[in-house]
Amino acid sequence: MSDSPAASCCSIDGGSRVSAEGRRDLLATPADGTAECPVMVGSPVVIADAEAAGLFRDHDGTRYYFCCAGCGPAFDADPAKYAVAAA
Ligand SMILES: [Zn+2]
Repeated sequence: MSDSPAASCCSIDGGSRVSAEGRRDLLATPADGTAECPVMVGSPVVIADAEAAGLFRDHDGTRYYFCCAGCGPAFDADPAKYAVAAA
């Protein structure tokens, strides 16, 4: 009887999975104070930083925040295009 007992399979704590999923929800939902750059889609923008640097535009009643100085002029060139993409 050299077989070792398979006790390890019973000691797995499934409770940790629940907390891992909870963290996913936080990532899926934008945290307060952040936005996504409408020009470089997928680039997160810290709203406070963007406002401080003037990296934002008000278009059609919505304020858009940019990830860098290059995105402002790009948005100005065709705001409707980016506004639609962001919505
Ligand atoms: Zn940018």
